Amino acid sequence: MGQRDATDVLAISFSANDYVGHAQGPDSPEVREMSIQTDVVFGKLFHFLDSTVGMGNVLVVMTGDHGVAPLPEVEVQRKMPGGRMPPGTVQKTVQAALTEKYGEGKWLLTASENPLYFNLDLIRQKNLDRAQVERVAADAARAIPHVFRVYTRELLASGVAMEDQVGRRVMNGFYGPRSADVYVLLEPYWLSQAGGTTHSTTFSYDAHVPVIFMGPGIRPGRFYQQIAVNDIAPTLATYLDVETPSGSVGRCLAEIFSE
Ligand SMILES: [Zn+2]
Repeated sequence: MGQRDATDVLAISFSANDYVGHAQGPDSPEVREMSIQTDVVFGKLFHFLDSTVGMGNVLVVMTGDHGVAPLPEVEVQRKMPGGRMPPGTVQKTVQAALTEKYGEGKWLLTASENPLYFNLDLIRQKNLDRAQVERVAADAARAIPHVFRVYTRELLASGVAMEDQVGRRVMNGFYGPRSADVYVLLEPYWLSQAGGTTHSTTFSYDAHVPVIFMGPGIRPGRFYQQIAVNDIAPTLATYLDVETPSGSVGRCLAEIFSE
């Protein structure tokens, strides 16, 4: 790579950090140590690149694919909101509500807690209205303490849920052919798992990630305005003077260019 008269793109994912983070939480000594060791690996990589193609010929872009919630136990110590909902609470509550309303049956297909996937065969067999089943499930989920919001497929498909950033982000994650029938969002810093931590909510602690550009033509500095990870692709395309990818959204981060 880097030996021809063309630009090469090398993408590397440092995935091990995610496993340690899930198990120990972002405030743990393990994650701190992992970050220090990742920095050492970066150093080796950059040193190697410098000795082969020269860092003057390399543009580095770093980001994260998500943030994470602190361990709820750490939040409690800080006297901040957060806690654990016993795993299965949402599933059991919704299953019970649908059984009470429509009769016995395995109403939910997956074990996932936040996106709920209905047994569509059962809904067809019983000749029920899918949107009405969604509303019954959503009402049951909304009544659970520490449930923040519940979105039905019907709402998301019609674009009704876009009233604020949380709704907009849930909406952005909605894809008709594959998405869940009901999406349940717990209150900030609440997890429906017995140990460790996770991400995948729309809240800032999950969605806020660094974006770092380093290399020739990049103006040194910190930039505090809100941007999106989606801005990386059009910025790289502009930097390389090539066409912006047809499916890309976002803007070119022109403020980081030094010339
Ligand atoms: Zn993860």
